[in-house]
Amino acid sequence: MIECGLYIHIPFCEKRCAYCSFFSSIIDETVKNKYIEEILNEITLLGKKNKNLKIKTIYIGGGTPSLLTLYDMELIFDKINSFFILDNPEITIEINPNSSIDIEKYPSFGINRISIGIQTLNDVFLKKLGRLHSAELGLATLEKAAKYFNNVSVDLIIGIDKSQSPEKDAERIVPYIQHLSAYMLTVEDGTKLQKDIAERKIFVADDDETINQYEALLNKLAKYGINRYETSNFCKEGFESKHNSSYWNLTPYLGIGAGAHSYFNGERYFNVANLEKYINGNHSGNDLQISERKKSIFEDKFEYVMLRLRTVKGINYKYYKEKFGTEFLSDYNIGIKKAEEYLLFSENNVSILPKYFLVQNEIIRSVLNL
Ligand code: SF4
Repeated sequence: MIECGLYIHIPFCEKRCAYCSFFSSIIDETVKNKYIEEILNEITLLGKKNKNLKIKTIYIGGGTPSLLTLYDMELIFDKINSFFILDNPEITIEINPNSSIDIEKYPSFGINRISIGIQTLNDVFLKKLGRLHSAELGLATLEKAAKYFNNVSVDLIIGIDKSQSPEKDAERIVPYIQHLSAYMLTVEDGTKLQKDIAERKIFVADDDETINQYEALLNKLAKYGINRYETSNFCKEGFESKHNSSYWNLTPYLGIGAGAHSYFNGERYFNVANLEKYINGNHSGNDLQISERKKSIFEDKFEYVMLRLRTVKGINYKYYKEKFGTEFLSDYNIGIKKAEEYLLFSENNVSILPKYFLVQNEIIRSVLNL
């Protein structure tokens, strides 16, 4: 049996946020229903083709998965249960506060982890981001989620404004959570945010201000026993996201839905990020994904090192040898010498020294000898 994750992409939102460059579009009931039908087809086809999988994690992401009806969810989970063997999996769903009405029913589908897009608890900043919910609704959703789940994660965005204090938001959030992801606001091409900044209608924090906000958040969370385990991810002990960790460990996962990526049998591929094509059956279940290539072992090692050095535990020598058959310290000896002063070596692992975490891109480039 092969241990595997499933990712299901729900590319629908009520409104586009000002900063968003993800693949999603405004929800239309007819299109959504056709999309769900094709999701069920893709699950069926993949399940029939891969009978030797043990599903360890399921992640329903978007978009806004909480826009699905309970009937949609029932159809999806019935199909997954009919075609895959579930091995006590971590099952996560992303939700938005303004579509959180059904969350108390989610545990009946086996969902045991909820990730809430709170972003900030400041109404002015929420408006700046183009979010639909208020800070009050964000907190109420969090309180409700904590009643029904003992694994609650929150997304925050930092760098929205130079006066932002995410550590103050953290104080109000920590009673309800086990996990927090903090992302630095990035200004993506073609977004409303980019246009508003170019027209000097709004201003966001600069790099130094954003780094200070990150450090303040990191220190505040640590006081509550919520520690960093990856650059953007923090949790109480034992609550690391198993699904995201599987990406960093290069364990296989199947992506279902338009634009979803997969890593399976040593191959990486993704479904076309186009609703119409997806609904017409252009996807991995029909072997019609648009990109497929076998990675060389060199590329896999490279990717593994890059992802693992973003984690606090870093690279475990034994795991690396089991995975690739060679020694990490020999494979990257030139780069390791170059980056030595920024690295923390222990008997079994090497990682980036905590004080250099925010300049990790340069250090990772050195280790990879780029
Ligand atoms: S809710 Fe999420 S996916 Fe949808 S537009 Fe906003 S940021 Fe993008």
